Amino acid sequence: MTRLIFLGPPGAGKGTQSKILADFLNIPHISTGDILRQAITDQTPLGVKAQGYMDQGELVPDQLVEDLVKERLDKSDAQNGWILDGFPRKVTQATFLEELLAKLGQGEATAVNLDAEDDVVITRLLGRGRKDDSEEVIRRRLEVYRDETAPLINYYGDREKLVTVNGNQSPEEVTTELKNIIAA
Ligand code: AMP
Repeated sequence: MTRLIFLGPPGAGKGTQSKILADFLNIPHISTGDILRQAITDQTPLGVKAQGYMDQGELVPDQLVEDLVKERLDKSDAQNGWILDGFPRKVTQATFLEELLAKLGQGEATAVNLDAEDDVVITRLLGRGRKDDSEEVIRRRLEVYRDETAPLINYYGDREKLVTVNGNQSPEEVTTELKNIIAA
């Protein structure tokens, strides 16, 4: 059973790789960023609440993402594994996830730390052209990553639930490495 979360700075390739792996394993790819962007497009109450934070590269309040993750992981297609992309993003969310999985009777998640250097990710993000990919917002998202999300590397490391993959490599090399990890 594969239950993976992806850590790593914006632009490290979490979205690309987690989608490939989820397709390969035939399990859901659950991206909190994608779900929030869709909510903004649809102008749902969630989207309206999240938009200002996202435009500025800030994290949206825990409650908003925790509610959507709880609902999503309880669905029938999530009972045979999943890949979470973009959640948890801070220690409070990791604790929430741990408790949620226990409540749902699902086993613990393994974290993949897809690490990449700042200059590599900035170049990639500037080429992507998403609304929150302006240079100023990218810098803020990297800062938020270092302050809030990077501590999760130790959080999962301490629990012996961490694997690290070098995200400076080509996408194909990263995929190969990830498939080997899953097979191990
Ligand atoms: P992403 O697509 O993962 O880069 O996420 C885009 C934006 O959505 C982030 O910059 C945050 O504003 C918001 N977001 C996504 N996931 C989370 C989360 N787990 N906690 C808080 N905000 C999130």
